[in-house]
Amino acid sequence: MKRVLVAALHHESNSFNPIITCEKDFNVIYGEDIFHKLRDNDSITGIIKTLQGVGYEVIPTVSARAVPNGEIDYDFYNKIKNEIIKRAKIAQEEAKIDAITLSLHGSMRIKNQGEAEGYFLEELRDIFPDIPIFSSLDMHTTMTKRMHNSCDGFVGYKCAPHTDCFETGEHAAKMTIAALENGASPKSAWVKVPILIAGEQSSTNVEPMIELINELRVCERKEGIMAASYLMGFPWADNEDSSIAVYVVADGNVELAQREAVRLADLIWSRRNKFCFHTETYNEKEALDVAFGAIKDGQLPIYISDSGDNPTAGASSDCTNFLKLIMSDNRTDKLTKPVIYGGIYDPIATNECEGKVGQEITLTFGAKFDTETSSPITAKGIVKAYVKDWSRAGMLKGDLALFNSSGVDIVISQTHVGYIVPEIFIDLGVNPKNVEIVVCKLGYLTHQQSLVAKRSIMALTKGNTNEDLKTLNYKKVKRPIFPLDYDFEYNGIDNLIGEEG
Ligand SMILES: [Zn+2]
Repeated sequence: MKRVLVAALHHESNSFNPIITCEKDFNVIYGEDIFHKLRDNDSITGIIKTLQGVGYEVIPTVSARAVPNGEIDYDFYNKIKNEIIKRAKIAQEEAKIDAITLSLHGSMRIKNQGEAEGYFLEELRDIFPDIPIFSSLDMHTTMTKRMHNSCDGFVGYKCAPHTDCFETGEHAAKMTIAALENGASPKSAWVKVPILIAGEQSSTNVEPMIELINELRVCERKEGIMAASYLMGFPWADNEDSSIAVYVVADGNVELAQREAVRLADLIWSRRNKFCFHTETYNEKEALDVAFGAIKDGQLPIYISDSGDNPTAGASSDCTNFLKLIMSDNRTDKLTKPVIYGGIYDPIATNECEGKVGQEITLTFGAKFDTETSSPITAKGIVKAYVKDWSRAGMLKGDLALFNSSGVDIVISQTHVGYIVPEIFIDLGVNPKNVEIVVCKLGYLTHQQSLVAKRSIMALTKGNTNEDLKTLNYKKVKRPIFPLDYDFEYNGIDNLIGEEG
């Protein structure tokens, strides 16, 4: 029986966010427990089920994931990485390991180190120089030389929103099986494409991504191609590797992988001006004007995204600028129901609300972490609700408070939550279906929130996920890069990085 080691590491690390993501932010699962906690749409689930499906013994080591946030604490990262290595060595002593199949994010970054996945893969490769190592990746991976040189083959998600995580895990597992059963000899090619792009401009439900992803599928149907991926990078991490990567794996034929990667790189470059927002998008003030103006149409609720401070893309979630604008707008108080605002990450302010439901208090909250973008709010208001140990959609448990002030019901959270499901409001006693305006710290609405929203507006606000990339203070990103730079030549062939490149 073939024995395959698996592990999962998932975090999208925003280097503009000063928060250091540490142990308390992570959901870490060890060993056999991983089998009992598999979620339907995870790449690790696709990997494990596919390998077990062909009768392999799967050796689960560690699965660690957290909501996107700032860079990860160095000691915690080493603890997790060393635990995987330790378990791998123990398993190897028991009996030979035939392959390693990983579920990685690809844009995980460590404070005072830089990239996470590259160093991790390098260490694994040193210990296991002769066995196949494959990995699934998030579509928002930042490809690096270390990653490229230390892994036999990657495959990234092809859907954003990421609805194909299971299938991508399955794909990585099938490459592993091909290498072990059919003697497949993976050769990979990587072409850098100097484009910085936010996830909101590269949804796969709209052009140009529909065409581009379709081309990946055409490529993967060609004889000898094992995987083809557009790895779109992550613009809110300032590092020298930031860019789009085209990554192709072919069986035994590096020229084929290179030819296809260059073709796909030239294609995405030629479409660079077609990337745009596909929802109503305005500056902060216009967004409020449009929303207040639309209330009379009766298509309610209107959702507004506070997109510059989106915790699901790694922002601190404690910027107060847009909330201040709403609280000080004299139209807010005239609504029939308070604006629902989700929300501000502030453990101290959350704790101050505990045991005070129904009471009027003066609360200072927000701007504890991102002190550069905004300043704290001090306001008198009523604590309307408090929920202990709230958790939904796989988020870590933490308390939530609902604080009403200046016509706004503000969610204040003890943990770094994402406003991905309407239950985050409903569980606090306010139903978004019954109000005029709901504000979420999101980019595009999640599927669950969009089911409630009758209209969706994205406000271009300030914060660690500012959608206007040209205004960000990049220091390490290699130039020229689109859209920071417009006027430069590019072709795929000159940016091909071959194996061991
Ligand atoms: Zn992603």
